[in-house]
Amino acid sequence: MTAKTPLIELRDLQKHYRINKGIFGHRTRGTVKAVDSISLSIAPEETLGLIGESGCGKSTLSRVLLGLTPATGGEVLYDGRPVNRRTLPQFRREAQMIFQDPYSSLDPRMNIEDIIGEPLRVHTRLDRKARRDVILPLLEQVGLSEDALSKYPHEFSGGQRQRIGIARALVLEPRFIVCDEPVSALDMSIQAQILNLFAEMKKTRRLTCLFISHDMSVVKHISDRIAVMYLGHIVELAEKEELFRNTLHPYTAALMNAIPVPNPALRRKIEPLPGDLPSPIDPPPGCPFQTRCAAAQERCRREMPALNELLPGHFAACHFCKGGVGA
Ligand code: ADP
Repeated sequence: MTAKTPLIELRDLQKHYRINKGIFGHRTRGTVKAVDSISLSIAPEETLGLIGESGCGKSTLSRVLLGLTPATGGEVLYDGRPVNRRTLPQFRREAQMIFQDPYSSLDPRMNIEDIIGEPLRVHTRLDRKARRDVILPLLEQVGLSEDALSKYPHEFSGGQRQRIGIARALVLEPRFIVCDEPVSALDMSIQAQILNLFAEMKKTRRLTCLFISHDMSVVKHISDRIAVMYLGHIVELAEKEELFRNTLHPYTAALMNAIPVPNPALRRKIEPLPGDLPSPIDPPPGCPFQTRCAAAQERCRREMPALNELLPGHFAACHFCKGGVGA
């Protein structure tokens, strides 16, 4: 936690889905704890990377955070004030999202001027001419020319579409941006261009960001701090350099092992993560990572480890990792 008031604070945020069975769906089969009591904060102008395998709850967390889907429990604070029915309209304006798939997130029936201008039409009283005055310089900043205005999404490449997605997310001059896997649908060469564009926009506009990815090398490139998520829980949280220097949680170590290293001599000697993410429906008690952890012991099957500060500013939820209560 920094000395400044966080721009975003999550307190015990939960999103549980009830899964029903029976032809009328009247019997409850179980509960998916997609997000389970997550507390974290993001300081002004900070970029928090959120990493974890597909299905661990990253998108659900971002949707609940932005008020796009209601939480089952807990609360979100924006600039020190709870986001509720009264404060949601301002929050919606100041908090925007860049989506994963630039192919499906842009309406194919709208031209680029209407796509980028839509948030202005909804949230301001600017007329078409005034909206264009806002859109044109923005279009230039994201690397597109004026003649893009009258074109449709299918006339652009994936990278160009993501530039359009970034322009749309920035048009209301937000303070906070959630990027949900913004480059994972793009070719490697284009990924670097889009990440660099985003990093530049972030700096010049002094944005606060939650940057979600399943790819540690992408998160490493863009983040100040990194939160590692597993089965609805944050299992490790630290400044980027600290996380790489003193990795505490075995799940984080396995994710780092998955980063491609071109030189075989430098490849880490950590075993790859065995098996898939277990079913999130009614997980057993204890540590959520116990079924895939080579170091799991009896205590891990009984007791859920808390996210404790094991080194200064470095939190991990593990009974036995370095500095932990059981070490
Ligand atoms: P990620 O973004 O990390 O891939 P998600 O947030 O999409 O993960 O999903 C987390 C878990 O919640 C998954 O097990 C997924 O199946 C489940 N889930 C997501 N949305 C729903 C829903 N509407 N109903 C039931 N389960 C859901």
